Amino acid sequence: MMDKEKRLDYFKKMEIPLWSLRENIDRLSEKIVKGDDMPRTSTMNREQKISTLNWQELKSAVNHCKACDLYKTRTNPVFGVGNPNADLLVIGEAPGANEDKQGEPFVGRGGQLLTNMLSAIGYEREDYYIANILKSRPPNNRDPSLREVKACTPYLLRQISLIKPKLILAVGRIAAHYLLSTDASMANLRGNLFHFGVNKIPLLVTYHPAYLLRSPREKCKAWQDMQYVKKQLDLCVMKKIK
Ligand code: SF4
Repeated sequence: MMDKEKRLDYFKKMEIPLWSLRENIDRLSEKIVKGDDMPRTSTMNREQKISTLNWQELKSAVNHCKACDLYKTRTNPVFGVGNPNADLLVIGEAPGANEDKQGEPFVGRGGQLLTNMLSAIGYEREDYYIANILKSRPPNNRDPSLREVKACTPYLLRQISLIKPKLILAVGRIAAHYLLSTDASMANLRGNLFHFGVNKIPLLVTYHPAYLLRSPREKCKAWQDMQYVKKQLDLCVMKKIK
């Protein structure tokens, strides 16, 4: 249990009003990213080639990517930031306006809230890695299309295989739906431990900070989610020590 002081600090960082408690590189990458331009002699398909890239090559591939139409309207690609050896990988849906402008995921008010939420359980921005499923912003923040997700997923899969996280935190309904191939409600997703991919990486789901800004009463539930994240990460640390 958190002591009272820690709880109050958490609520402050979460902006929860107390009343609510009650209630290569470039060339190689260019070839890779244009799925249609793959050399016909190649025995590897685009996904397989992406799965062999190192960090530098992967970033360059995203910077040059034209595999879906979103490259036409984006200002900057949003690759992802943070600790490439992190235990915790935070995955959102797609860049918004601020992210598109700055080329970094989860900035602006929502991003600050997410940063504060994780900071409240002892995880600063440099302690985890943060990325989106889509690396380019869908116009007017519309939901990503299946085609766009399919085109962009190999980049995220490579990020996951390079980071080897001990825990994935899916932020928001859409990220959770794509990662878990489900259409379950947030009520059924939150508070449950899932496993992602062939390596069965533990995965938890929480609300998107943009939703929390619109629905501040749900911040209390997000607090419960953060407790669960902390518990899982503590278990990872204990396993490492043993
Ligand atoms: S969203 Fe992904 S697949 Fe589409 S252009 Fe951007 S990086 Fe490429």
